[in-house]
Amino acid sequence: MNRTKINKIANSKLRILFYDKEIYLCEARLNGCQYDWILSFAHRHKRRWYYDKPDKLLWDFGQVILCCLHCHEILEKDSKLTEEIFTKLRV
Ligand SMILES: [Zn+2]
Repeated sequence: MNRTKINKIANSKLRILFYDKEIYLCEARLNGCQYDWILSFAHRHKRRWYYDKPDKLLWDFGQVILCCLHCHEILEKDSKLTEEIFTKLRV
């Protein structure tokens, strides 16, 4: 399966998972958080980290948080902060 397809599957599985868990707002809540502004899924690791591992990790609840664009951009550039946030929000 190619990566585009894996990402599409991951995103649709995550939408259902987060809908079921009733998570509709940014979970990171960093300074300047926009709450529901352009929400997307932020992963614990860079996407390439997942590709040589079982695909299901891409849609594992422990590996993903819902993020507004503002928080997502900050986390994207700061892997230490990302790990702190995940440690706080996920087991
Ligand atoms: Zn946010």
